[in-house]
Amino acid sequence: MEADRTAQAVAALQQYLTAEQTGDLETVDRMLSLDHAGFGTGEDEVALDRDAALGFVARQNEQAITVLQRHIEVQHVFHAGPDVVIIMASLVYEIALGADSLSLLLRGSYVMEHTSGAWRVAHQHMSMPSSEQRPGEAYPMQRLIERTHVLEELVRERTKELQEAMSDLHVAATTDRLTGLPNRARLEEHLAAEVRRMAAGGRPSLLGIIDVDNFKLVNDEFGHLVGDRVLREVAQVLRSTLRGHDVVGRWGGEEFLILLTDTDASATAPVLQRLRHGLAQRDFGIGRGVTVSGGVAWYRSGESLDGWLSRADTLLYLAKHGGRDRILHDD
Ligand code: GH3
Ligand code: MG
Ligand code: MG
Repeated sequence: MEADRTAQAVAALQQYLTAEQTGDLETVDRMLSLDHAGFGTGEDEVALDRDAALGFVARQNEQAITVLQRHIEVQHVFHAGPDVVIIMASLVYEIALGADSLSLLLRGSYVMEHTSGAWRVAHQHMSMPSSEQRPGEAYPMQRLIERTHVLEELVRERTKELQEAMSDLHVAATTDRLTGLPNRARLEEHLAAEVRRMAAGGRPSLLGIIDVDNFKLVNDEFGHLVGDRVLREVAQVLRSTLRGHDVVGRWGGEEFLILLTDTDASATAPVLQRLRHGLAQRDFGIGRGVTVSGGVAWYRSGESLDGWLSRADTLLYLAKHGGRDRILHDD
């Protein structure tokens, strides 16, 4: 029965190819006929005896090819005798390549021989377009590697985009939208770092809370939009009258926080003077000036951030109650 023999031989071939593909060397060994010979591809484009065929399969496995799908299309079957079936087939291998995959087309001729009670592979010739393969490669590794480089480049680009997005997000999360100054969250980070630095023996810094005087009246008289503009301009004056390494941020509402680092006690008054002078010079376009009150405190060795802040706050309170338009500081 030729049809039965064909079905059996094709099934045996399928089994053999599966064993090859999964690195099941035991089955490969068992299914290779004792006088097996074959032609492989690449460096193996030489007659393969049994040992060479086994080596080929082992190497193929070492190259860590993950075959996702294999499709065998039997093109032609030739019955050379009662125990010999020749199968010509096209093999399509879909190989995993990172998240991507690659299809390889192979052509195979297989002489299946019924010997010692089973169908075995007596001869095989497998080929693949040789320009895609280099010596020693069971698969066209060069092409796979090139594809991998393309994928790596893609991953690099995506990672860069992600990092940029994260950095934009960080800026957005730490910047006050109205004034463009660091927001309270960012200021708290600055302050915590500053306390750590001083706790480790660094020079003490000055912390100030600056509050716009009677700001509610600006809103009441000119509306919120003008109020917003005034706040932006106060922010600009604070930023431009302090030194680059001093920190200025929006603490909330019409309150700003300043952190003066690397300051000599003798420089405190002139710095604060410059700040108040900058505001006094500015024409805010509301027919009168804008003043601020503030409390500025030196860090005291060993104190907590809350303790430091609350001493600045107390000085601000005293400045308000003393008549506003003044910045009080301790010595
Ligand atoms: P004091 O001199 O005692 O500080 O008086 P004040 O009016 O400045 O203080 P108060 O706390 O009574 O009012 C602060 C006002 O600041 C009330 C609030 O609506 C306004 N304000 C806070 N944030 C903003 C803002 O982003 N935009 C505007 N336009 N107004 C703000
Ligand atoms: Mg206030
Ligand atoms: Mg105020």
